[in-house]
Amino acid sequence: MNLCGYIPESLNEGHGLRTVVFVSGCRHACPGCFNPSSWSFRTGEPFTPERQQEVIRDIADNPLLDGLTLCGGDPFFSAAECSQFVRNFRATCPDRTVWAYTGFSYEELLTDQARRELALLCDVIVDGRFVEQQKDLTLPFRGSRNQRLVDVKASIQAGSIVTLA
Ligand code: SF4
Repeated sequence: MNLCGYIPESLNEGHGLRTVVFVSGCRHACPGCFNPSSWSFRTGEPFTPERQQEVIRDIADNPLLDGLTLCGGDPFFSAAECSQFVRNFRATCPDRTVWAYTGFSYEELLTDQARRELALLCDVIVDGRFVEQQKDLTLPFRGSRNQRLVDVKASIQAGSIVTLA
């Protein structure tokens, strides 16, 4: 798994102040994608276990941070590796939250074992492909109106998809 970007402190990818890691690789090829250079799985630098631990330690040491956001690319194309990273993060930072961006719909994620596992480790998933015809720059934390902020725990409890406002 490669990393094609890293923002230690951002207000734009989820609630509060968050560290954002951009996982390389995406096969959705949405027309108008904001970051086509992230599509290759070989772009960026290897996200080694050592680098992952550094990121986790940096978040743990910064009390201002609310959590971690996985962005891309699409981290769900590297679901097994991301799950291990998030498990390690949860073990060190149990009081922080995890958001993840994906071009898959939440329903699609649940049909694949590895993607489902990663989805259920997250607090919020911003789901769905970017659709240029539905582009709306006024929406918080997403680019097009079809995309949703899925509250994972509430959705599990309700047995149906619950979204944040
Ligand atoms: S899912 Fe995201 S990264 Fe992938 S093509 Fe669509 S907008 Fe680009």
